[in-house]
Amino acid sequence: MKIDFATWPDGTTVTDFVETPESLELSSDMSRFDDEVKVTVTVHKTDDEAIVEGRLAARAMSTCVRCLDEFEVVVEEEFRRIGKLVPTAQISEDTGDPDYLFLPSNEPVWDLNGMIREIILLTVPENPLCDEDCRGLCRKCGQNLNVKQCGCEQPKNDSPLVQLKDLLSGKHIGDV
Ligand SMILES: [Zn+2]
Ligand SMILES: [Zn+2]
Repeated sequence: MKIDFATWPDGTTVTDFVETPESLELSSDMSRFDDEVKVTVTVHKTDDEAIVEGRLAARAMSTCVRCLDEFEVVVEEEFRRIGKLVPTAQISEDTGDPDYLFLPSNEPVWDLNGMIREIILLTVPENPLCDEDCRGLCRKCGQNLNVKQCGCEQPKNDSPLVQLKDLLSGKHIGDV
């Protein structure tokens, strides 16, 4: 959704809108976005400034990095951003506040979709886990160990942390 300073009414406006995953360009290696994103915003606008307070709800199907099962991730986030129109020459100046944006006054349209996309992608985990205690797949037979044990003998001390400790203590030097 866009706020066009030329046509958007001054004062406080509350509006609901939906965006498709396509319009938000939502994509992530480990998550799929099939559903529309619902957004409610309250906009407080003056001639050259808009304060946007909103709430968004989205849903992703994420793939667990350990067991490769898909599970639902619900994103419900609140946000607040301030957009201020300034002459184009000042645009590159850092506002010093990530929630405070400069918008070019010669093109006074604020596209909220980039912000919405960013909030969703920051909230959906980069390395999704279906459960903190997910037991993952057997490295030998591929059995999902959350479902049942397979009986294979599991290698000991194979967590990355243990490997790192071994590496640091020099155990692996000369092994290769
Ligand atoms: Zn899992
Ligand atoms: Zn197994």
